[in-house]
Amino acid sequence: MADFLPYGRQTIDEDDIAAVCDVLRSDYLTSGPAVAGFEAALSQAFGDPHVVASANGTTALHLSMLVLGVGPGDVCVVPSVTFLATANAVRYVGADVIFSDVCPESGVMRPQDLEEALARADGRKVKAILPVHLGGHVAPMEELASIAARFPQDEPPAIVEDACHAIGSRYSTSEGDFTVGDCRHSTMANFSFHPVKTIACGEGGATSTRDSALAAKLAELRSHGMVRDAERFQNRNLAFEGDEANPWFYEMQEIGYNFRITDMQAALGISQLRKLPEFVARRRALVAAYNGLLQECGPLIQPNAALANSSPAQHLYAARIDFGAAGRTRAQVMAALRNEGIGTQVHYIPVHTQPYYRALYGDQVLPGAEGFYSKTLSLPLFPAMETADVERVVRALKNAVGVNS
Ligand SMILES: *Cc1c(COP(=O)(O)O)cnc(C)c1O
Repeated sequence: MADFLPYGRQTIDEDDIAAVCDVLRSDYLTSGPAVAGFEAALSQAFGDPHVVASANGTTALHLSMLVLGVGPGDVCVVPSVTFLATANAVRYVGADVIFSDVCPESGVMRPQDLEEALARADGRKVKAILPVHLGGHVAPMEELASIAARFPQDEPPAIVEDACHAIGSRYSTSEGDFTVGDCRHSTMANFSFHPVKTIACGEGGATSTRDSALAAKLAELRSHGMVRDAERFQNRNLAFEGDEANPWFYEMQEIGYNFRITDMQAALGISQLRKLPEFVARRRALVAAYNGLLQECGPLIQPNAALANSSPAQHLYAARIDFGAAGRTRAQVMAALRNEGIGTQVHYIPVHTQPYYRALYGDQVLPGAEGFYSKTLSLPLFPAMETADVERVVRALKNAVGVNS
């Protein structure tokens, strides 16, 4: 049998391995030049915002909530079709989640979904809205930002992108073309470099922002909230000997965490980021091959839905399958594909249905999220695949679903 095709996997070459080994032979294994270099390289790729790297995508989201001062009594809007971490970041700081519905075809939050979710704020302060660029498809940023700006509240909610799927994605608005991470329509954007994502650090994350004060605070809270800037010291008599700050001195004025990324991970990130254009081009070619083949499958299997104004660097290929009409369960289709050496996955179980969130907020009905969930199946998509692999997956999928070719 041919090689097993997982739904996603990293591409690591000898130069990536050499980059990590170089760090191991150097003086700094953490908080060293590779971390600063990775942040600078990401900033360049995004169009020059500030970038703060952290341990993973979850810590990036958590830090975003901390620096915005989100806390108990506040609410944040999160689309229900996402990974757990988007909603959990809101809970880590003691705030509440309003789950928004999503488009049943794409799984992405639409303007009307945001409006409807905001109507459920019931006078509570909406601190942030967290659009998720599901599978790399960019949410309608301009429209979401304008809804946030118009929301009647002293300080409008911040837009915090969960861009964990979307490094390399672009989008267009009435004003031009933008790269995800550029933060022209958001306060912050968050990325993950988990091995199934578009570039891999093993574990790794980053937050980009145009706000230098927020960037400084992200960096501070990433490392215990330690302040080393003498101008800001509050314990002046401990900090200074005459006019000179004591060389060992630091202060903690707010509590932070150890959310640092290592230099080994950052060096891998730098090396991987150089290949981003190549990875994205490869993913786009594979997506085009899938789209071409699935377009001809009839109503039972539909290609991944495209979104207006979004030019995705797709992390996932989410086919939409009418399991009911096919008379097969999703579990049966997944098992049949697995027997053919093909891995698939479901992204995602709507988060509002998780027992933890049901216990907090009760049963909610979000028809778009449930409709998307009922049909979605992520097919293998990673740069080392060949067009022949796509053909093999589609052949096996048609057999498994019962589509005659
Ligand atoms: C992967 C992912 C995260 C979390 O990233 P980690 O690096 O795994 O912590 C958050 N949101 C989404 C949408 C993700 O896919």
